[in-house]
Amino acid sequence: MSINPVLTTELPFALPDFANATPRDYHVAIEEGMRSQLGALAKLRQDGSPATVANVLAAWDRAEGPLRRALNVFFSAYASDATDEMIAIEQEIAPRLAEHSDSIYLDGGLYARLQDLSGRIGAGEAEADGEDRYLLDELLRAFRRAGVELSEDEQTRLRAMNKRLAELQSRFETLNREARVAGGLEVAEDELEGLTEEEKAVLETDGAYRIELVNTTQQPLAAKLADASVRRRLLASSMNRALSGEFDTRGLIVEIARLRAERATLLGYPNHAAIVAESGTAKSTDAILDMLVPLAQAALAKAREEGEELRARYAELNPGSEFTAADWTFVEALLRRERFDFDEADLGEFLQVDKVLDAVYAAAGELYGLTFKLRDDLVGHAPGAQTYEVHDDDGLVGLFVMDFWARPTKNGGAWMTNLVDQAHETGDLPIVTNNCNYTPATTTISWDDVITMFHEFGHALHGLLADTRYAGMSGTNTPRDFVEFPSQVNEHWAWTPGRVLPAEWLEKLEAASKFGQGYATAEVEISSLLDLVWHTTPLDELPTSADEVEDFERRALAKYDLVDDLVPPRYRTQYFAHIWGGGYAASYYGYAWSKVMDADAVAWFEENVDGDSPAMSLREAGEHFRRTLLAPGGSVDPMETYRSFRGRDPELAPLLERLGLTI
Ligand SMILES: [Zn+2]
Repeated sequence: MSINPVLTTELPFALPDFANATPRDYHVAIEEGMRSQLGALAKLRQDGSPATVANVLAAWDRAEGPLRRALNVFFSAYASDATDEMIAIEQEIAPRLAEHSDSIYLDGGLYARLQDLSGRIGAGEAEADGEDRYLLDELLRAFRRAGVELSEDEQTRLRAMNKRLAELQSRFETLNREARVAGGLEVAEDELEGLTEEEKAVLETDGAYRIELVNTTQQPLAAKLADASVRRRLLASSMNRALSGEFDTRGLIVEIARLRAERATLLGYPNHAAIVAESGTAKSTDAILDMLVPLAQAALAKAREEGEELRARYAELNPGSEFTAADWTFVEALLRRERFDFDEADLGEFLQVDKVLDAVYAAAGELYGLTFKLRDDLVGHAPGAQTYEVHDDDGLVGLFVMDFWARPTKNGGAWMTNLVDQAHETGDLPIVTNNCNYTPATTTISWDDVITMFHEFGHALHGLLADTRYAGMSGTNTPRDFVEFPSQVNEHWAWTPGRVLPAEWLEKLEAASKFGQGYATAEVEISSLLDLVWHTTPLDELPTSADEVEDFERRALAKYDLVDDLVPPRYRTQYFAHIWGGGYAASYYGYAWSKVMDADAVAWFEENVDGDSPAMSLREAGEHFRRTLLAPGGSVDPMETYRSFRGRDPELAPLLERLGLTI
């Protein structure tokens, strides 16, 4: 019916008609998507016939279809090419999408229809398989987390809390940004020894020099600044930002933490972290602590060993002066140069963009039997993107769109998106994108870029190899503490000798990458624990005023033996933007959680395909990973998919070994 280029399904693979889509078409498609979803859900709610999987769950997934497609397509194009018109659309739709979601998840009639189906399945009156039951349970939980079971008065209170929290979080972001800017350090030119002329020029305005702070506690320039007193002033400025004066964030933090705790109680949960854990793989805060505490403690123990080495080298260079946290990255960089120095330019012949993409494809061929065919005739989501048809032994798998190139309108970094989600209900094959930021003249990339290309392609494989009934549960539509794991596993295949680099180079790179892992892991996991303590502490034990915040932080870390002045958290409470501003409250652990599964999964591959008489070929091992872990996407409890892949729960030991840690 629709001839909107965003929604049309007439092109091969139902690829959106990017060549003809205007910003207005995106806007109209999103509007149409919201309207049609509400219309279809109204029918679902009012349907008088007995509830079945077909008229509830399949209808639910179908109702979401046009909006899902419009948003997938819009956000893919927006991230890669955010013109002013696209930015204006994003700002206009963001609050409306939040309202739209509330109007669905606080709809008691819809909830009742889902419960009705659940009751009929329980009584054996309606048929459902595991995938149906899981989707239904997830939907019922999402309604409860949104507050559908509350009384009208309570829902009014909840809405007021949500609104207040949104305001506070946004004010925190602004204040934290201002505190960071205000924390910048004025320095004299002769204090900048160790920096190149180019680096100095970046710091200079009208003859005055200023070092701006970055988000983290440790500041990147400290690794280069030879003057210890500047390093000390810089670290102090970083750690003390947002603690006093007009940019003090602590009052906001106290109110946010208390409101989140209060809201959790209203929703019937022990604390905010419990709500977050329930919607993830971890399921409980105890499970998170069981992973996080030993990891953080082992990392801190290793960091202390590293610290002894650094202290000794520092003493040789500066007899009699004390080694502090401000000297850490400086001495570490020095030792790194002394031990592992080599010129990455020597790797250039191996790291050409096209060769690396061929290697990424070759790994997917060896593991999953995939082949890739360029489709010059199909236009991707961004100018200059290349489109490939993906096949396996059984035929067509989907479409992969690669957007390598940087442009002024593109987000930084690298990422994957879905344009179309695979689903048996709709018959759609997946279309996924990968996006990098290479300047168009680039021919060779760095080793870090190589790892990133394998990483993002790991997300792409999760989308491409999806094999599920419902689009909403397909591929990378999994919890946040799970979704990074398959992509991290794919990084491993960059390290196969001869695939990208010869073995001798890989050995050098591996030795260099292990150095300093104690500190790097400790500073992150100490922050993870801080996040968790803030979001598991009961309301009556949370600070009630700004003055109590620093003491709360210190006691939280002391409880787990994680206080060490040489190893401060990567983010202190008052500038921990992930948890107070962004959407990572009680979720920062997710990075470590997926790394545990990643290292444990890679260990499985090593156990089964390495050695003189391996249990299976790489292709067989890949097939097992594909069928048990990638194909189910979010259609099964992610811990269950993990168990069906590994035969047991994930264990911490392989990650500890990878990082060179022991407990
Ligand atoms: Zn990722």
